[in-house]
Amino acid sequence: MTKNDDNVKDWRSTGRRKARKELFNNYAEFKCVGYVKDGKVIPCGKTSREPPKDAPPWFDEIWPLDNRVLDYSLQADHETKDVMQNDIQHLNWRCAPCHKMQDKQTSKGEATVKINYF
Ligand SMILES: [Zn+2]
Repeated sequence: MTKNDDNVKDWRSTGRRKARKELFNNYAEFKCVGYVKDGKVIPCGKTSREPPKDAPPWFDEIWPLDNRVLDYSLQADHETKDVMQNDIQHLNWRCAPCHKMQDKQTSKGEATVKINYF
């Protein structure tokens, strides 16, 4: 990370905005994809109770009827952790807990990181 925090915040939020737009534009189903643990996908499938503020006009088409349980919008997660990489194949919707779990895995998709439960 750089020392210029303001800058970091700025490009990060820009990256997230771009990521959300990319996911919407690609009609990615608006539900949490879960996370990967020890090479296995732990499914989730949760989605938001309400459409997010930046929902596109076609939001109903990508919003599953099941599991509308979250009080907040799903987060656009960058699989590579590179917020400048906003191609659809590197992006997924995640709920906050799954986003956290996925982030705890690895930064580069190699070496396994043990998850500590407190
Ligand atoms: Zn989830």
